[in-house]
Amino acid sequence: MTADNVSPMRKTVPCPECGQPSDRHCHPFCSERCKNMDLGRWLNGSYAIPVSEIEENLDQDDDDRG
Ligand SMILES: [Zn+2]
Repeated sequence: MTADNVSPMRKTVPCPECGQPSDRHCHPFCSERCKNMDLGRWLNGSYAIPVSEIEENLDQDDDDRG
């Protein structure tokens, strides 16, 4: 029996930006650069973010207790 196939404990997922193996420090990205690129897309509004209207619930009750 030959055990030459050593599998790592954790699988490295490809970087969402460039597809390179991700770095543990910048998971799931391969580098800070790709990390910032993804963040920049969010800031630019490339991603569609569902906007939910926040209902202003003003519930003020003047109740004086003494
Ligand atoms: Zn990358």
